[in-house]
Amino acid sequence: MGSVIFGGIEGGGTKFICAVGTSPDDIRRETRIPTTTPEETLGQAVLFFNEAEKDFGRFSALGVACFGPLDPNPDSPTYGHILPTPKPGWSNANVIGTLKSAFDIPIAFDTDVNGAAFGEWTWGAAKGLDTFIYLTIGTGIGGGLMANGKLVHGLLHPEMGHIMIPHDKERDPFEGECIFHKDCFEGLASGPAMEKRWGQKAETLPHDHPAWGLEAYYVALALANYITTLSPQIIVIGGGVGEREELLSLVRKNVQIILNGYVHSPAITRGIEEYIVSPGLRGRSGMLGAIALAQTA
Ligand code: ADP
Ligand code: ZN
Repeated sequence: MGSVIFGGIEGGGTKFICAVGTSPDDIRRETRIPTTTPEETLGQAVLFFNEAEKDFGRFSALGVACFGPLDPNPDSPTYGHILPTPKPGWSNANVIGTLKSAFDIPIAFDTDVNGAAFGEWTWGAAKGLDTFIYLTIGTGIGGGLMANGKLVHGLLHPEMGHIMIPHDKERDPFEGECIFHKDCFEGLASGPAMEKRWGQKAETLPHDHPAWGLEAYYVALALANYITTLSPQIIVIGGGVGEREELLSLVRKNVQIILNGYVHSPAITRGIEEYIVSPGLRGRSGMLGAIALAQTA
């Protein structure tokens, strides 16, 4: 066992985190690569893993948890590619092909949020569960879903950030900033949407600012939709915006008000502090999830 080691990549829109190790207590090396072009970004990742293999020996497998939209279907001709995206240069980028040609080892590939969900399931807040959601609220909003013990892909993969939620334009005249849908959930509630609506970065909004009440209401509407359609056993909320503790407590209250007792589980009616939770792995869910994915490759 001693020589078994894995590589993991959490591919984000602003940075790629590459790590080498086997578990939360055994990350032997880690680096952050700014997300520029696919050639440059993946090239730097390959260099990092090449150097690491010199010091730690050959990896057993790689795991990649990457921003999307992407093609996670191994039987598809575009498996492992980024699908058309507004992100400059990344449409149709062949992420897995590039890594495969550098490393002739098994490579597991999934969305960033499915990866984070898998990390939380392996080592974090979702241990032992079989149906739950990992939602990130940051630059974008996205959800990873495990259902009956399997990460869900389906047609492509879920796009939980782009659901439509009620938008009362009298209470909130902001038109929304999703380039596809304007006022979908992400268009109303991502970090950049908050920044545009209030004219300041979300991290600078004080805890008593009305922004948080509105944000919590939107997040709670989305969660009510997920709870009623998917029946998750817990919901883990990460991301820069999502990890604000004062937001989570408002979200919990709003979810109870919106569901109005209908989803009749003590998890919601009485134990909601343990039902809507922050990631057990804090900011490391994605990176550790990539390592956990590698272990399944
Ligand atoms: P990314 O989604 O790019 O991986 P983050 O999850 O950190 O990265 O999300 C970045 C977004 O979250 C930005 O819009 C930023 O303004 C916002 N953000 C980061 N930290 C906080 C914070 N402490 N409170 C509120 N918003 C934050
Ligand atoms: Zn949208």
